[in-house]
Amino acid sequence: MTVATEARVEDKLFQNRYLVDAGKPHIKVRAHETPSAALVALTAVCPAKCYEMNDRGQVEITPDGCMECGTCRILCEASGDIEWDYPRGGYGVLYKFG
Ligand code: SF4
Repeated sequence: MTVATEARVEDKLFQNRYLVDAGKPHIKVRAHETPSAALVALTAVCPAKCYEMNDRGQVEITPDGCMECGTCRILCEASGDIEWDYPRGGYGVLYKFG
């Protein structure tokens, strides 16, 4: 008898690799004193946990590990809360398929 094991999403994501473009983040958060509700939401919805609230109550991003899913772009780019662009060629997420 074989026991089926389900792969966890975290384990699958760990297979990906990310090449950091040092000093050239492809996403930036606009400077703010108090974050908008949409910015705060990014701390919960980003699947890579790139957004965090700092101890001053402001939202910060560390784009290392970004999967380029575009969720934050849809939520916050039009309002100007963030600037979003793709990483330069050769940088960013390197997906492992299979
Ligand atoms: S594009 Fe997706 S993975 Fe990257 S920072 Fe935005 S929400 Fe997170």
